[in-house]
Amino acid sequence: MTKAYRLHRTGGPEVLSFDEVEVGAPGPGEVRLKQTAVGLNYIDVYHRTGLYPLELPSGIGLEAAGVVEAVGEGVTGFTPGDRVAYAGPPIGAYAEARLIPAKAIVKLPDSIDDIQAAGMMLQGMTVEYLIHRTYPVKAGDTVLFHAAAGGVGLIACQWLKQLGATVIGTAGSEEKAALAKAHGADHVILYKQEDIAKRVREITDGAGVPVVYDSVGKDTFEASLDSLSVRGMMVSFGNASGPVPPFDPGILSAKGSLYFTRPSLMAYIAKHDEMLTAADRLFTAVDKGLSINVNQTYPLSEAAEAHRALEARETTGSTVFTV
Ligand code: NDP
Repeated sequence: MTKAYRLHRTGGPEVLSFDEVEVGAPGPGEVRLKQTAVGLNYIDVYHRTGLYPLELPSGIGLEAAGVVEAVGEGVTGFTPGDRVAYAGPPIGAYAEARLIPAKAIVKLPDSIDDIQAAGMMLQGMTVEYLIHRTYPVKAGDTVLFHAAAGGVGLIACQWLKQLGATVIGTAGSEEKAALAKAHGADHVILYKQEDIAKRVREITDGAGVPVVYDSVGKDTFEASLDSLSVRGMMVSFGNASGPVPPFDPGILSAKGSLYFTRPSLMAYIAKHDEMLTAADRLFTAVDKGLSINVNQTYPLSEAAEAHRALEARETTGSTVFTV
């Protein structure tokens, strides 16, 4: 038996139920992991509230690091004792131990510890696909990246600088703006008090930016479109303030023949080789100096408090549960 969080219903942080569950032996193609560190991601909030519906009861969580305890029939490439990490389905990362398909995990380099790994796999592979494959950022591009002091945001600021881009971030407070700047943002707009599109036009001498990465959703949608240059790309990849309401595609024409995409990590790592490439690029970026800022850690038993803090915009960088 082990302990794992289960969702029996959707709602506030109080619906996170830390239950006794049976793990069992790994089946064909699976490994059993003893988990040491679990990543908190905003998608966990969407699953908990029901914004992204799950069949209940369900596990929760998509990212962790740990040690292989046992391997099932047909598993090659992993043996008990290997240090590994993962980000992605099947759901159920908020657990002390679990079974997982071997094709979902990657071995960890010695240079990356378990807390770092749990703080970077999902957010880091997200930044990889956003800036390499959704809109491939080139040296000299100026990009707008919202929530720049968050988990995804601090990784993005640093990685965009490695690519030679100029980064305009947004943040909810002066402290968060300073943090984003310390991680490479060239300009930070305080979006609670400043006009985002107006500031972007000032910074870009009226041109606007070729790409906006927007995970805030409802509150920033219009301003993001208004910040784009002609034929620019709006990458809407999250809903921290609520989902973007339905809109008339004519708005994309009126604002300059814009492109709109609503990507998800799962579609960009669905193929095993894509997941391995994304993880490899992330490890390389870390080797080159990208730092993973695990600015909050909680025991796994305090997941509800961590959810509350994330939704209240009290966190910066990544949050990890220790097991
Ligand atoms: P963050 O650490 O970035 O936390 C969310 C941040 O969003 C907050 O800290 C806050 O920063 C900002 N925010 C703005 N408005 C609100 C609001 N009304 N309520 C709460 N937060 C708000 O989280 P993650 O790094 O885990 O994820 C960032 C975003 O990226 C999320 O929206 C997530 O869903 C999305 N995402 C999407 C993926 C995809 O493939 N589509 C994959 C991974 C993440 P501030 O106070 O500075 O405004």
